[in-house]
Amino acid sequence: MEVDCAGCAGCCIDWRPLAADPSEHERRGDQPPLDNRYNLVPLTRDDVKAFVDAGYTDVMRPRLWRAAGERPHVTIDGFDVVAIGERPLFMLGLRHVPKPVGPFDADPRWLSACVFLDPTTLQCRIHDEAIYPRTCATYPGHHLVLDREPECVRVERETGRQRLLDETPPADVPPPPLGAQSLGATVFLHPSADRLAAVIDRLARDELTADDRREFVAVALAQSPGMPAVNEERYRSALARLGDATSWVSPAGADWRAAASNRSPEPGLAATFEEARGAPHTQGWPDDPE
Ligand code: SF4
Repeated sequence: MEVDCAGCAGCCIDWRPLAADPSEHERRGDQPPLDNRYNLVPLTRDDVKAFVDAGYTDVMRPRLWRAAGERPHVTIDGFDVVAIGERPLFMLGLRHVPKPVGPFDADPRWLSACVFLDPTTLQCRIHDEAIYPRTCATYPGHHLVLDREPECVRVERETGRQRLLDETPPADVPPPPLGAQSLGATVFLHPSADRLAAVIDRLARDELTADDRREFVAVALAQSPGMPAVNEERYRSALARLGDATSWVSPAGADWRAAASNRSPEPGLAATFEEARGAPHTQGWPDDPE
């Protein structure tokens, strides 16, 4: 497997506003997400723990799914949410905020982007760190193994530039994040639909609070792979640990949201919004071979 990622970041942003034929691949099938995020990276429980250990308690958000037809579900805030028994199913991904990005040689514009994307280089700020999520590190390995179209091919179709240079699947791709074996590892069960009253409504309106996000992170940390029971003691200790602590990501996100509503899309704002608060720098791409 070999990919050309220079100037792309197609798997880190919602580039549907740039696409002549926007993909809705995350919303096909009989359990579309309740949120409207595009390219939400599924995190493993180990990823979640690593982020919390590194002080990035505020970078994650949940995804839950709508149940269509007879699919097992529980109804919360008027939404039929996919569930096992009375317990809603969820995964955790990385938050997005509006950032001024110019992928595929386009002029910068405000697009929904992963909190870790450096808008000036279109590189990941945590690429070389221990917290780099497994899904990002192996992308698009799972797609190649499962014969599913990766984002690289969608970008190629839209822009005409080849991105997936070698599509031989790597030999060491871990199990897919959303398979039958994922319970307690990448897909979690919330113990109480009642506790999610009003939360699901906020999630569907893209208005989750920091407390809402902390609740899902603590529940995920209180489960173990293959054992979706929530350990109450671990849940309480995780909630206490998450506390009100925030990394540079939260204040930067607030600045990005404010700027997106009243400023022109200037990637250089990242120096003030992110790097001045401690965000890791990126190096930029070597000279483009084209
Ligand atoms: S963590 Fe990095 S590679 Fe993964 S989606 Fe975010 S910016 Fe992209």
